[in-house]
Amino acid sequence: MAKPKPVAEPAPRAVQTLPEISLVVPVYNEERTLEEVCRRATATLEELGKPFELIVVDDGSRDGTWAVVERLAAGDGRVRAVRFKRNFGQHPAMHAGLVRARGDVVVTMDADLQNVPEDLPRLIAAVEGGADVASGRRRGRDDSWGRTLPSKLVNGMLRRFTGVSIADFGCAFNAYSRSALEPVLGVIGKQKFTKALVLSAGASVVEVDLSHQARADSSRYSPFRLIRLALHILAGFWPQPIQWAGVLIGAICALLAIAVGVWGIIFWVVQGDFPGLLFLGGLVLGVLAVQGFILALVGEYLGRIQRDVEGRPLYTIDQELGE
Ligand code: UDP
Ligand code: MG
Repeated sequence: MAKPKPVAEPAPRAVQTLPEISLVVPVYNEERTLEEVCRRATATLEELGKPFELIVVDDGSRDGTWAVVERLAAGDGRVRAVRFKRNFGQHPAMHAGLVRARGDVVVTMDADLQNVPEDLPRLIAAVEGGADVASGRRRGRDDSWGRTLPSKLVNGMLRRFTGVSIADFGCAFNAYSRSALEPVLGVIGKQKFTKALVLSAGASVVEVDLSHQARADSSRYSPFRLIRLALHILAGFWPQPIQWAGVLIGAICALLAIAVGVWGIIFWVVQGDFPGLLFLGGLVLGVLAVQGFILALVGEYLGRIQRDVEGRPLYTIDQELGE
């Protein structure tokens, strides 16, 4: 009997070209380094032997960055690019890249060569090994104290507010599993610090030590921008400062009002004299106590509005069984 003719396999082109790894690089005025960053990242990813894409987001650069991006995209089909109309900031740029990323593993990296592209495989391996997030930890960070001091403050705040104890929230060289990113995609950019956002949604994390190089020019973050960033974290990851202040003021004033009231009554009974001024003080403290609690309530309203406006997920799901 004649052998059945092998059925011609459909060309698996579309499947093959779908990237498994997406590298997202936000850039702002990086004409000097971008080409080298992309060349070294591409060579490193090629060695992994998996299909990948490189998504460059030009955050409104004023130098020749976009010309470099156009050249790179023209020469390599794996390079995709987005250009913002103006400078919106690193985190909105990150958002534009992350929503476009198609890989199962998504890596974010800076374009200033402070991150070393040759570290990519270790971050990717950590996610492929099962972690939701491979968190880059800069070893021997080569930055001025003016840049590292605010980072220490930010790290301390984020450790406290997220309840996740990693060393380097500020390191933007990280890898994520797609499933960990998806629930918070709508919030990234509105809320800076993507890594803190993903981790506060319950993602598992592995820390990966990375090399860190000095920047050839200066950071895109001025001291003023760093202060705004710290305020942003306070408002974003700690929505209850008003509540804490309100409850604290309310409780202290209420206790003082009670103490003054009791003291006034004792004074009245013992001396037979009505201490008008003392009662007035007690009354003022009582009013302040009520105002403190009202402030706390306002904090609750604001927290609810903020969560709705940002579209933060109410929960993230780890597993589901059954249909
Ligand atoms: N960046 C950006 N938009 C900005 C500022 C920075 O896309 O408004 C990019 C920048 O080009 C770099 C990364 O974000 O790729 C990190 O910026 P930078 O190195 O200045 O920050 P630092 O290392 O001081 O945290
Ligand atoms: Mg940098």
